[in-house]
Amino acid sequence: MKSLFSELDSTDRKFGSGWISGTLGIFLSSMGLAAVICFLYPEFLTLQELRYGFYRENLYWIRPLLFGVLTVAYLLGITNLALRKNKTLGFTTLGLALTASLLGGASAEATQDIRGDVSLGLDFFFLNLIMLGALFIPLERIFKKVDQRILRHEWREDLLYFFISKLFVQFLTLLSLTPALTILANTQWASGLREAVASQNLGLQILEIMFLTDLAQYWFHRCFHRFPLLWNFHAVHHSAQAMDWMAGSRMHIIEVILLRSFTTLPMYLIGYAEPALYGYIFLVYLSSVFIHSNIGIRFHWLEYIIATPRFHHWHHGIEKEAINKNYAVHFPAIDMIFGTYYFPKDQWPQGYGIEGNPVPRHYWNQFLYPFFKDRMENKTPTPNLAERLNDSSEFPNTPTLND
Ligand SMILES: [Zn+2]
Ligand SMILES: [Zn+2]
Repeated sequence: MKSLFSELDSTDRKFGSGWISGTLGIFLSSMGLAAVICFLYPEFLTLQELRYGFYRENLYWIRPLLFGVLTVAYLLGITNLALRKNKTLGFTTLGLALTASLLGGASAEATQDIRGDVSLGLDFFFLNLIMLGALFIPLERIFKKVDQRILRHEWREDLLYFFISKLFVQFLTLLSLTPALTILANTQWASGLREAVASQNLGLQILEIMFLTDLAQYWFHRCFHRFPLLWNFHAVHHSAQAMDWMAGSRMHIIEVILLRSFTTLPMYLIGYAEPALYGYIFLVYLSSVFIHSNIGIRFHWLEYIIATPRFHHWHHGIEKEAINKNYAVHFPAIDMIFGTYYFPKDQWPQGYGIEGNPVPRHYWNQFLYPFFKDRMENKTPTPNLAERLNDSSEFPNTPTLND
């Protein structure tokens, strides 16, 4: 496993070195194997909403596509073996693709008919990875702020955060909605107001939800910076030293549940119409990826109205002036009102993370960190990203900062 990761992190990535075929091979073969396992155990591993609608109606092209993915994975694995001295990526690709084929490949069928209410979203993870990757990877290439690789510093941690948040999406949604739905089920309050709210124009409803959830999120977020017990959870999110479309996924699961429970309260209790709720959920999903992304586009006057990557990157900045600033995720005006606004014109932070890097590396260490902080704190602080920029021996994926 270690040599697989060190191959993926290898700096010898030029065209013809076999790295591209090997890495793509790993991606396609693991996706193909996951799809085959989803075919074998759909009740456990696919989201119900997609299982009975979309997949059932589209099998006529999904199965040939899976066949194509596995075939290309085999070819990529062989290409890697032919081109590269270190064969780890090639053999792993072939191993994964072969396992997928032995389990039935593109014609795999579920053998048991098991019904269940709760399932994991393995399909949801790959769909999100493909859709967000297809949107943000080219944008981050074209409009990059920091010149860093797709598989940049600590990409594995963040991919695991991304994986877990999508795999347990049903469980997380269920838990997050419990407070709001419990209140709704046991009260009949403000029915007149709720009707009036739901009858407004859809765009206006979405705008109101954005403002109210951001207001709730602002104070929630500010408390997580203010109180040490809460900060220990939130420090995990701030431990990211590289920003991109996947960095925002890095969040302690307890914080995810509390944050969502709290911020969804206003939108469910005030009575917004369902299309407005879904519209907002889609919007916040894209915007939370966007504000962490490595996109350096200049938005001019618009960045004072709507939160952009530059605004939220300052929230993650290592500069002293940037500490405990820019809590809002939609409207910078909220920070202006409450005195926590920091947004120097046209400038970007020099680096990201927490002074002294107290949070340990790797998912499980970070999961335990808030509970055993004293024992787990990184006592020998590693230098911050900005100081490491020229040290490629310690930090192979060294990004360079653009102006
Ligand atoms: Zn924060
Ligand atoms: Zn953030």
